[in-house]
Amino acid sequence: QAEIEAQERALPARTRDGHAVAIGANVNNPEQVPFALDQGAEGVGLMRTEFLFLERGDTPSEDDQYATYAGMLKALDGRPLIVRTLDIGGDKQVSHLQLPKEENPFLGVRGARLLLRRPDLLEPQLRALYRAARDHVGAAAPTGQHAPLSIMMPMITSVPEVLRLREIADAIRAEIGAPYVPLGIMIEVPAAAIQADALARHCDFFSIGTNDLTQYALAIDRQNTELAPEADSLHPAVLRLIHMTCEGAARHKRFVGVCGGIAGDPFGACLLAGLGVHELSMTPRDVPGVKARLRGADMGALRALASQAYEQEDAAAVRALESALVAGAD
Ligand code: PEP
Ligand code: MG
Repeated sequence: QAEIEAQERALPARTRDGHAVAIGANVNNPEQVPFALDQGAEGVGLMRTEFLFLERGDTPSEDDQYATYAGMLKALDGRPLIVRTLDIGGDKQVSHLQLPKEENPFLGVRGARLLLRRPDLLEPQLRALYRAARDHVGAAAPTGQHAPLSIMMPMITSVPEVLRLREIADAIRAEIGAPYVPLGIMIEVPAAAIQADALARHCDFFSIGTNDLTQYALAIDRQNTELAPEADSLHPAVLRLIHMTCEGAARHKRFVGVCGGIAGDPFGACLLAGLGVHELSMTPRDVPGVKARLRGADMGALRALASQAYEQEDAAAVRALESALVAGAD
C-alpha cells in the first residue's frame, strides 16, 4: 500500500456525500500522542488505563495518575480524550493487586465489576480524572461529543452498574468542584448491546468494544489462536448487536464510537459507519488507510451495505461484499 501523504492524512474522514466520521486513536500515554496526530487522528477515542498499572510493580497513586491524565490533555491541546477506567481481569491480570484466582477470568470479576468491589482502585482514579478536568478543561456540554475529556466505564452488563458508578462519579466530581464530564460506557457484552436503549438513558455515550463483544457473542476466547479465524468481528451476529446498539443510542440521541480492532480495518470501518457509528478509534498506524477509504465512499452506499451485511448468513459472505463496494467506489 502506497504511503499516504501527511497532507492527505490530515483531511477529515468525510464521505463523498458529506458525512464526517470522527477518527480517534487508541493511545495509552502522552508520549504516543504526537505520532497519532501525525497519522491524522483527531483525538484519543480510547486510553486504556490498565497500562498505568501493568507497566509498573505497584499501584499508581492518585497524583501519578493525575500527572498522566493532565499530560494527555496537554498533549492533545483541546482535542477530545476518552479515558477508560481500569479494566483489569480477563486477559489483563495485575499481580500486585492480589485479586482472587478465578476459574474463568473472562466471565469473572472484570472491569466495572471489579471497580464496584474495589473503591480503593475506583475512587483515586476518578479523583485524578476530575482534578485533571477541573485544572485543564473548560465547562463541557453533557453531550459526550467533542468535549475535551470524557470518562468511560468498561465491561458494563446492567443498568444498576451504571447508576451506581454514576452516583460515585457525581459525588467525587462535586467534592472536587470539577466541570461536568461526559460519562460513557463500553458496549462489549451482548447483554449491554441488547439493552442499549435502557443503558442509553443513563449515560452520555457508548463505545463498542468489538474485541470483547465478538468473544462473548461467539463464545470464542479472544486469545485462542486455534479459533482465531472464526472470531471474526464481521460475523453477522456481531453486526446485529452493533446495529441494536446504534438503534438504542439513537433513541436517546447518544453518540456511538467503536474502539475494537475492526474499527481499524478499512472495510470494517465502512460497515460500521453504515451501521450508524459516529466515531472510530484505532491503532494510530491504521488511521490513514481508514480515513482514505471513508473519503472515497458514499454514506448512502455504506448504509445499504450495512443493511445487506447483517442479513448475510456468515462472516465470509459479509467479507465478500467488499469487492462490490470497492468496484462501486471507482
Ligand atoms: C474491546 O474489547 O474491543 C476493547 C476495545 O477493549 P480491550 O481490547 O481493551 O478489551
Ligand atoms: Mg474490551
